[in-house]
Amino acid sequence: MDIGPRFRLFPDGEQRESLNWVRDTMRQLRNHALYRLDNIPDDAGTVRQRVMMVRDELPDLKHWWTALDNVYSTVSQHTVEQIHHDITNLGKQKAKGFNVGELNWKKPREFKSFTYRQRGFELDKKSGPRDRGLLTLKKVRGETLDIPIKLHQDINPDDIKHVTVKREASGAWYAAFTIEQETPEKPEPDEIAADGTVGLDLGILNFVFDSDGRAINWLDFSTDRERLEREQRALSRKRYESRNWEKQRETVAQVHLDMRNKKRDYYHKLAHFYTTNYDAVFVEDFNIRDLFEGPANARNKQEVAWGDFKDILDYHGEKNACHVVEVPAYNTTKECHACGVEVEKPLWAREHSCPSCGFETDRDYNAALNVKRRGLQRLGLGQSEAASVETGPAVETDDTRFVEVSARSVVEAEIPHGENPGSPTLNEPAVAGK
Ligand SMILES: [Zn+2]
Repeated sequence: MDIGPRFRLFPDGEQRESLNWVRDTMRQLRNHALYRLDNIPDDAGTVRQRVMMVRDELPDLKHWWTALDNVYSTVSQHTVEQIHHDITNLGKQKAKGFNVGELNWKKPREFKSFTYRQRGFELDKKSGPRDRGLLTLKKVRGETLDIPIKLHQDINPDDIKHVTVKREASGAWYAAFTIEQETPEKPEPDEIAADGTVGLDLGILNFVFDSDGRAINWLDFSTDRERLEREQRALSRKRYESRNWEKQRETVAQVHLDMRNKKRDYYHKLAHFYTTNYDAVFVEDFNIRDLFEGPANARNKQEVAWGDFKDILDYHGEKNACHVVEVPAYNTTKECHACGVEVEKPLWAREHSCPSCGFETDRDYNAALNVKRRGLQRLGLGQSEAASVETGPAVETDDTRFVEVSARSVVEAEIPHGENPGSPTLNEPAVAGK
């Protein structure tokens, strides 16, 4: 997943053509490199070594493939080296049980981006039209281009390591920057207080139910889905590959992109909130392989969402010096947080009600408390199961107050302090157990 900052580019018609030309030349280079790689015997070296052999052919290649002379050298190098990265990922996904095809030749529509590494680009934050910046790219079809860029986030041009230029299916161009960042030190586990930590139960009814009593709703996509269906119907009425079909296809792609951005924004805001307000965040460790071998139903979709959210949570954890710790998911829902007894409950039962000790609370809140306890144990801060039996539940069943936070208020909240009258925000004090 690409989680570096991304910015919209505004190339004019001619610049667009040149960017597209580089993109397509790099697509051809990739296909050529795959062919060359196929011709190197497996025992000539590791995959990495063999990919590097192909990369080292680039200077010779330029003698007869003169187009490559009009592309910046690190861009061509990166395109070839990327093959190693893709093969490694393919291996990882296979290990996780995904069913993915082999690396294929890319058709024009599939190859979307190219990357400048270390050199060949410059960012000027001010000089573009209408308060925009300018991204200078060298050797784009042999020429230097100054492309207007909308910077919605302040970045220091000196920190940029790589620039990936990408064309979305909607036709819009973006630049993604890889930023060199010093990662702050996380607190030592023995400096962390239990109330500076939080357990998250990723659920069906709510996206997150946390151990401080916040129930955070799933994003509502009903309007977006209606829009998507409408645009897809319109697409099916157009003649395949006609100009109108092509235009409508871009509209459909834009709707998909809007939905993806909305989701990503939501995950980032949640992850920012948790990693800036706590020293440690605990989440369940799902076994992705089990999930994907199960029936392909709606549940899989949710688990993909949780997986994406956890990746973003990790990223914010590094950025904000917060421990993000995965804990075993086994029985977090069944186990009574107060006494440890297993309480069987069907999926529809919203309440946890323990026949053994009488502890009653919301099903997902009980799970979140268990996640928190397991997380504390992982950090070496856990009170033992036995101790918690003696001290009884950490919460009183009667005055536990939950705060329901709508997904909309998460997205609309101005981080870090959202004021959204009428609808509780993430910063609303949750006073569970107090
Ligand atoms: Zn109990």
